[in-house]
Amino acid sequence: MTRLYVGLDVGGSAMKAGVVDDEGHARPSVTLPTEAHRGQEAGLARMCETIRAAVSSAGVTMADIASIGVATPGLMDLKAGLITDPVNLRPWKNVPVRDHVMAAFGKPTAFQNDANAAALGECWAGAGKGAESLVFYTLGTGVGGGIVIGGRVIEGRNSNGGELGHVRIEMTNPRPCGCGRLGCLEAYAGAMSIVKRTHEALNADGGKSSLHGVLQTHGEMSARDVFTAWSAGDELAGRIVEETAFYLAIGAANAMHAIDPDMVVFGGGLTAAGEPFLERIKHHVKSLAFPLPAERTPIRYAMLGTDAGFIGAACCARQLVTR
Ligand SMILES: [Zn+2]
Repeated sequence: MTRLYVGLDVGGSAMKAGVVDDEGHARPSVTLPTEAHRGQEAGLARMCETIRAAVSSAGVTMADIASIGVATPGLMDLKAGLITDPVNLRPWKNVPVRDHVMAAFGKPTAFQNDANAAALGECWAGAGKGAESLVFYTLGTGVGGGIVIGGRVIEGRNSNGGELGHVRIEMTNPRPCGCGRLGCLEAYAGAMSIVKRTHEALNADGGKSSLHGVLQTHGEMSARDVFTAWSAGDELAGRIVEETAFYLAIGAANAMHAIDPDMVVFGGGLTAAGEPFLERIKHHVKSLAFPLPAERTPIRYAMLGTDAGFIGAACCARQLVTR
């Protein structure tokens, strides 16, 4: 008989939870607003509420659940089960997520970084199904990362393993990154950085790009607008997208040389750019990586979408009670 686990993925604006079985199949999930501004006590209560709602939506009871996994963003101490200083969850600070959830339900409870959980989710039940090792990038406002080896997340000694968005890719005139360092992949390939690079290019473009029109109409521009303009043949957008693919390929090739994984998976909002963008990343990886990994390592888009986090959290829960 298959056992059941609950995974909870806590995000800056919403929490998503679902019941998952031993094969990685998820029952219908539940999403509730995080409302971080109401404080961390309210946040912990909302986590428990979301877990209860997921169990109920799966048509089972808490007695059917073997263990629980919680994934959150932000700086954390994984061994202590704490979120220490989460940028997306202000004003929370030093929140004892794992122990609170464990005490509330009396179940073994796992705690994981959200990008690590998404990497594990994809490796278990998504694009990486069947893979032993996987390098995962989540392309959103910033660039998140996760590494799975032997079916386990690489947490690292200080909970800082797999921070692939903060691998330095530029030494000469490096751009500042949101993390306070310079030249990180995120400072080049995160959605916010893509928009910044596009603004700079537009300033020097003499009014030719169609993106000037987008700016005039909407007063602002998103990374999605840049990719749309690229698809429509806009030259400036094409240059920005090509550079973005190149930067991501530098990150991926570096990770491939460090780990030689079974595959590289890209997830997150920017994957809406579709297969042509992935093809450009693959093209540059071929010229940057050693011949064998360049030729043999599959590079794919993620398959689980926004379910990857809670499914990966459930996988962590499963690993707690399955040896
Ligand atoms: Zn950084």
